[in-house]
Amino acid sequence: MTMIEVQQLKKSFGDLEVLKGVNFTVEPGEVVAIIGPSGSGKSTMLRSLIHLEEVNSGSILFQGQALVENGKYANANTIKKITSRMGMVFQHFNLFPHLTVQQNLELAPKAVKKESVADIRKRSEVILNKVGLLDKANVLPANLSGGQKQRVAIARALMLNPDILLFDEPTSALDPELTGEVLRVMQQLAQEKITMVVVTHEMNFARDVADRVIFMDKGEIAESGTPAQIFGNPQLDRTKAFLSRVE
Ligand code: ADP
Ligand code: MG
Repeated sequence: MTMIEVQQLKKSFGDLEVLKGVNFTVEPGEVVAIIGPSGSGKSTMLRSLIHLEEVNSGSILFQGQALVENGKYANANTIKKITSRMGMVFQHFNLFPHLTVQQNLELAPKAVKKESVADIRKRSEVILNKVGLLDKANVLPANLSGGQKQRVAIARALMLNPDILLFDEPTSALDPELTGEVLRVMQQLAQEKITMVVVTHEMNFARDVADRVIFMDKGEIAESGTPAQIFGNPQLDRTKAFLSRVE
């Protein structure tokens, strides 16, 4: 079943229309990269998927179930059920500064109370190991590099076994020498066929890891296709102009 279907999504902040009728789908196991100039609505689009923003009209279906349908939102329980299946990773990590790495990972699963504390502990160790940070379990975020913080944020998102991971410029706040370690973890997740939507400025990541690339411009999807199509044979002048600026 289609993971996410977005239909005619529109969103304004006051008089400013930032999403002007966006349509796309994400299939299970797909990695979709969203690229485009600053201010084109990429973050607003991503945040709308996980209900951090409410749209004005259009529909978002998650595994066939409506989060919002023709501008009308589902009830609070349904919204919670749907968004609990999604994980999000932000540009600025958003870790809890007073909690250790492992406590950051375990907080949400403990609140959900679906698993024993012992099982949560086991899983947090497996996931920290996966992102290469098991040795940092008892450290506070302030004592980590930016790349390590972002890997903790990814690990934390994985703790809730999401069906889809959303990334909003996960490497934009990092020094260039630290982006690689984060991109490698994301590439590993892609190889495990975790469904991902990644807003990114990393054109190499979009080219090498994404199954599909969406170019957003001025609140709409201007062009989308495989990385080969978008990078090798862009159709629109504005796509070409954007790529020539960022590559
Ligand atoms: P991108 O992520 O592509 O840079 P955004 O989705 O962040 O774009 O922003 C799209 C437009 O919406 C920008 O003009 C931005 O200033 C505006 N915008 C975003 N969030 C808000 C907000 N909470 N209130 C008012 N305007 C906003
Ligand atoms: Mg943004």
